[in-house]
Amino acid sequence: MGRIRKPKVESRKKSETRNNSENQKAKTETSTLDKDCGFRLSAFGFPSGWLARRLRSWFVRHQRDLPWRRDRDPYRIWVSEVMLQQTQAAAVVPYFERFMRVFPTVAALAAAEEQEVLRCWEGLGYYRRARDLHRAAQEIVARHDGQFPDDPAVLGRLPGLGRYTCNAVLSQAFDRRLPILEANSQRVLSRLFGRAEDPRRPAARRWLWQAAEAILPDREVGVFNQALMELGALVCTPTAPRCTQCPLAARCVARRQGRQDSIPVRTPPLETLPIQEAAVVVRRSTEVLLVQRPPQGRWASLWEFPHGPLQDGETHEAAVLRLLRQLTGLRAKLGTELLTIRHSITRYRIALTCFEAEHVSGEFQSDFYVKGHWLSLADLAAYPVSSPQRRLACFLLSPTRQRSLF
Ligand code: SF4
Repeated sequence: MGRIRKPKVESRKKSETRNNSENQKAKTETSTLDKDCGFRLSAFGFPSGWLARRLRSWFVRHQRDLPWRRDRDPYRIWVSEVMLQQTQAAAVVPYFERFMRVFPTVAALAAAEEQEVLRCWEGLGYYRRARDLHRAAQEIVARHDGQFPDDPAVLGRLPGLGRYTCNAVLSQAFDRRLPILEANSQRVLSRLFGRAEDPRRPAARRWLWQAAEAILPDREVGVFNQALMELGALVCTPTAPRCTQCPLAARCVARRQGRQDSIPVRTPPLETLPIQEAAVVVRRSTEVLLVQRPPQGRWASLWEFPHGPLQDGETHEAAVLRLLRQLTGLRAKLGTELLTIRHSITRYRIALTCFEAEHVSGEFQSDFYVKGHWLSLADLAAYPVSSPQRRLACFLLSPTRQRSLF
């Protein structure tokens, strides 16, 4: 079981002085917000400190041992929070550990090339997060002497740091009295207070943010916030919440009313759309062509084997020859079909059929791709590519495949 982070002794007095005045301010603000949104903690009959005590005691016993919980380093907490935005904790762990090995400090991250950062982020997807993380690290080094800002107004101006991420980092690293609201805590609060509205609606979100703020304890706010999220991840799950194991069950409105399954309102899954795409590995002697995508749009600045969607009525073979002509300016002799890679992006279910081709004539030139490099297969490992493209690169690197290609 992981340890609960304790503030460092030397910074505690300073932190407490600041936190006391902040807490006073936050309480005043809370009562104003209370009027705005209609949230009244007293209306739910919670005895003073009950929620914080119950959550803390449950968290001490049941929290997962996650590497970013082992100290209060704001850099490590920040990186983990960004990774966790689209990925579950268990899946994030190996990526987090690799990232920390390569970029152990904010200074190391700031000094890296963007391509190195993207390569290390590979597999997590949503690469904009990695680019924002990198730019924010550079700003922290350039404007804040490499010290992590502990003021939400300052931190919130850095790329990619929205209200949730700022508050999560500052409450966990510096025990700042700031609320958090993400999918897990949102679900717990909606059920605990019996709010049936769709939390995606602005009024419902405002209410939830104000509730999240109103229930904060005066100290150990980072522990409280983590406990709320952990409870949502482990017990108050989207389907079949384990209410019998929940420390809040005695005062949970949804449980009392038997409405756990209908709160919060669930988004109906989007209709999935199938997409056919083609990719081509162009060989020239012992090298293959890898091209870099533009700095905007999907997979910005990543590298890939030229690829694109099929047009209406087009065969894969015709698409490959068209893509080569339009995207690379090369002429090539089409070879065999290598494999089909199936993957999903949001609602799209993509079948990417990959071919090989032998370069015949022409130099790389493109209005779409930024650069084209002829590389040996061994060099592919150094370039950041999307997950499906990495699968294609790994396929090419298998010994039998190498023999048949070259
Ligand atoms: S009692 Fe059930 S529904 Fe209520 S907070 Fe706990 S797990 Fe969620």
